[in-house]
Amino acid sequence: MLDLGLPLDAPDLARASLPEIDGLEAPSASLLAIIVSHGHRDHWGLIPKVQATIPLAMGAATEAIMAAASRFVPGGVALNAAYHLVSGKPMSIGPFKIIPHLVDHSGFDAYALEIEAGGKRLFYSGDLRAHGRKGSLFERLVRNPPENIDIMLMEGSSLGRLANDQRFPSETDLEEGFLRRFEETSGIALVACSAQNIDRVVTIYRAAKRAGRTLLVDAYAAEVLSATGYATIPKPEHGWPNVAVYIPQSQRVQLVKNGIAPLVDKYRDFRLWPEQLRDKAGRLVMLFRGWMMQDLDRADALAGARVIWSQWDGYLADGAGARLRADCERRGIPFETLHTSGHASVPDLKRLASAIRPCRLIPIHTFGRNQFPSLFDNVTLAEDGEWIDV
Ligand SMILES: [Zn+2]
Ligand SMILES: [Zn+2]
Repeated sequence: MLDLGLPLDAPDLARASLPEIDGLEAPSASLLAIIVSHGHRDHWGLIPKVQATIPLAMGAATEAIMAAASRFVPGGVALNAAYHLVSGKPMSIGPFKIIPHLVDHSGFDAYALEIEAGGKRLFYSGDLRAHGRKGSLFERLVRNPPENIDIMLMEGSSLGRLANDQRFPSETDLEEGFLRRFEETSGIALVACSAQNIDRVVTIYRAAKRAGRTLLVDAYAAEVLSATGYATIPKPEHGWPNVAVYIPQSQRVQLVKNGIAPLVDKYRDFRLWPEQLRDKAGRLVMLFRGWMMQDLDRADALAGARVIWSQWDGYLADGAGARLRADCERRGIPFETLHTSGHASVPDLKRLASAIRPCRLIPIHTFGRNQFPSLFDNVTLAEDGEWIDV
């Protein structure tokens, strides 16, 4: 099984139902494993509902990041991998030969999968894009595509979100945008983005460094960055002078309550304390969420502050996003959005599809599947729950 996500439009986990596949609820020899392409909830969210003996496969960094996040995020889950996906390294699960391909995506450690069994070949795009920090992975895939693919399952998240000939700004474009905003800001720059969007955190870090500022992260982001296991990802440790850890008051309470306060001992040398916030504000960029505002308020560190929203603006419609925007308005703090998609534009999807030239292309992960036949060759539309012979 390739991914078992909670659909983004599902009401909640309790009411979401499992697909009718043998082996999910009761053991069955026909279900050999679930491969988790990356750590986004729409790719693993239903796994807590399946019987626990099913082996899971995922990237080692995905496993580590999910474990780190599960200590902080409500509803977070740590999954144990029986197999690790390694880019370019073939692996076998029963009759299936699988080659994972690391891809560029807003979720870290994300893979497309090339799968062969019984003389037939399938390619699963997973979630991917070409305009992120690892865009070269997409170009490599287009230059050296897997050959003789019978069926390609290709994501189409962008369809309907932007015009079919339009492209998204790159992470490099965003870095320039952040740099300009940071230079124009006299006080603390507060960036609301997901700590698990590692590409974006790197973009913000690079812009902060160029602006002579230090990136301030909370314990959750510090743990996620450390869990990547990549030497090239900025994190609060020696060798990264522009990263510091600030633990907000309510997070400190939470750490103690959950018995995990010793977790942050290792950041002792890199901490920034409440009484330092005010003086250093103009030299800081903080990875920020709305509830951290009270810490900055208490520390009198909000003069000249600016908030930049760097995630999907749909999250501003209600809940914490809407509350933050209203809070900024009340306080007279400038608020703007600086973001780019985690998914490929239509022109990039076209390049991928024409490089791989599958016998059949089946749209997945999209609200725009009816546009597929006019945009790509050899499209077969499949219904949820419908079995397809390869
Ligand atoms: Zn994703
Ligand atoms: Zn997804």
